[in-house]
Amino acid sequence: MGIEVNDAQSKMNMTWVNQIVSPESVKEIQDCLQKALQGGYSISVAGGRHAMGGQQFGAGTIHFDMSGFNQVNCIDLEKGIADVQSGIEWPELIAVIEEQCRGAKSWAIRQKPTGVDKVTIAGCLSANIHGRGLSFPPFVDDVESFSLLDADSKIWECSREENPELFSLVVGGYGLFGIILDVRLRLVPRTKVKRHVEVIKVIDLIDLVTERKEAGYLYGDLPVRNRSRWTDRGASRSVFLLSASRR
Ligand SMILES: Cc1cc2nc3c(=O)[nH]c(=O)nc-3n(C[C@H](O)[C@H](O)[C@H](O)COP(=O)(O)OP(=O)(O)OC[C@H]3O[C@@H](n4cnc5c(N)ncnc54)[C@H](O)[C@@H]3O)c2cc1C
Repeated sequence: MGIEVNDAQSKMNMTWVNQIVSPESVKEIQDCLQKALQGGYSISVAGGRHAMGGQQFGAGTIHFDMSGFNQVNCIDLEKGIADVQSGIEWPELIAVIEEQCRGAKSWAIRQKPTGVDKVTIAGCLSANIHGRGLSFPPFVDDVESFSLLDADSKIWECSREENPELFSLVVGGYGLFGIILDVRLRLVPRTKVKRHVEVIKVIDLIDLVTERKEAGYLYGDLPVRNRSRWTDRGASRSVFLLSASRR
C-alpha cells in the first residue's frame, strides 16, 4: 500500500507514497530524482508539510522530504542577502542571521507567515506567502533569485533578469515546475518596533488599516481564535495588534 504521509496541520490529506527520500545536498537530490525517473515514478516534494491543500503529496510517488536540505550557504552582510538551501525553516534562518550579525550591521527578515514558524523557505516561495506587513507586497518581493532542478535534471537559475517567466511561475507554483534548490533572499535592516494593541469593531477594520498605515504603522494583525476571550461575537469586536517603528 505504501508509506502514509499527511499534512502537519489539518491531517486531512492522508496519502500513500511509494517511498520517502531525504536528500541533503544537490547531488543527492539529483541522484534521487534520477532513480525515481528510471523507475518510472512521479515525484512529490514537501518542506514543513504545513500547507493544508495536500499539494505536497502524490499517491504512489517518490516523496522528497526536503527538510534536511537546510543549510545557510552564506550571508552577505554588506548587501543584506541570505543565500540558503530551500529546506531551511524560519527559526533556523533567523538564528543564523542573528549569530552572523553580532557586532556587524544588523539585518532581519522582512516577513514570514503570521501563525506558523516551522515552514520552509521553499514552501513559502511555492505558496508566495504574505506576512503581516500593512504595506509590503507578498514574499516574492523578498526573493532575489533561486535555482530550480527540472525533470531532465537540468538546473535553472531564475531571477527577474534570468529566466523571468520560470521565476514568475515557480513563485506561487506549489512545486509544479521542479525542485527549488538554493534561494537568495533580500533582508532588511533590523529595526525595533513598538506594539500597540486596541480593541476594534471588526466592521471598522478596513478603514483602520488605511488610517494606521498612513500613521506609519508597519505591521498589523487581527488574531482569529475560537472562543478567544478577546472576541466578543455579539458586538463583533476583536483585538487589532499593530507595530510601528520605535521612535
Ligand atoms: C497555522 C498556519 C498559519 C499560516 N499563516 C500563513 C500566513 O500568515 N500567510 C501565508 O501566506 N500563509 C500562511 N500559512 C500557509 C503556509 O505559509 C504555506 O502553506 C507554506 O507553503 C507552508 O510551507 P511548508 O514548508 O510547510 O511547505 P509544504 O506544506 O511542505 O509544501 C507547500 C508547497 O510547497 C512545495 N514545496 C515545498 N518544498 C519545495 C521545494 N524544495 N521545491 C519545490 N516545491 C516545494 C510543495 O510541493 C507544496 O506544493 C499558514 C499555514 C498554517 C498551517
